[in-house]
Amino acid sequence: TLTLTNIAKTFPGGVQALLPTDLEIAKGEIVSLLGPSGCGKSTLLRMIAGLETPDAGAKIVFDGEDVTRQSVETRKIGMVFQSYALFPNMSVRGNIGYGLKMQKLPKTEIEARVNEVIALCRLDGYADRAITALSGGQRQRVALARAMAPRPRVLLLDEPLSALDAALRSQLRDELALLLRQFGITAIFVTHDQNEAMAIADRVAVMSLGEVAQIGTPEALYRNPATGFVARFVGDAM
Ligand code: ATP
Ligand code: MG
Repeated sequence: TLTLTNIAKTFPGGVQALLPTDLEIAKGEIVSLLGPSGCGKSTLLRMIAGLETPDAGAKIVFDGEDVTRQSVETRKIGMVFQSYALFPNMSVRGNIGYGLKMQKLPKTEIEARVNEVIALCRLDGYADRAITALSGGQRQRVALARAMAPRPRVLLLDEPLSALDAALRSQLRDELALLLRQFGITAIFVTHDQNEAMAIADRVAVMSLGEVAQIGTPEALYRNPATGFVARFVGDAM
């Protein structure tokens, strides 16, 4: 379980990107953060990852372990970005194994894990290709494989599909949902696409202007929207 208590972010200059927020995510649960541009989705994700420091009074706990003051590395979190953020001149295998090498795992262990996630993410046959020789969808699979290889406690996905064309996007969305469920991976999936959030998540947190307006199952949000904003936002998807 991941427990966030009183997480807020005010950027220098006074922009309140996120108002105080509490959120609990169960092991194996997939939660989607859904909301329009600028509502604070990435900021919330980056604070969970440890890439951004929350305002005073915040607490982030993983399975009883307080990680609020831990570094990015020790939090054991996987992250996938819209822009892939891969090393373009390195092979697929090189990219996926990079973080494991930094962890100084034994060579045989690295090889085994790299091969495992290559199979999971359906990259067989591409392992020795350079990133520059891959399509967008294949690159995003590599980014996913790389994030999964260290076996993170939670996978943070920040609009991982939005650089892809519509057909590939829905295909990869379904594959991703299946993969996460099959392996019981805890994940937070950020998107501004209602359909995507509804299709992939157990619960959806609808965000607006730095707040979680409502969190619930897709079904519950649709049946009992708490605000007009949620009703309009979720209604669009059905
Ligand atoms: P998008 O869907 O466009 O990615 P988002 O929901 O992820 O949007 P955030 O990136 O979390 O939004 O930004 C929330 C607010 O915080 C915005 O008003 C943004 O301008 C502001 N913000 C984000 N990062 C910084 C920063 N480093 N310094 C100052 N303001 C920032
Ligand atoms: Mg964002």
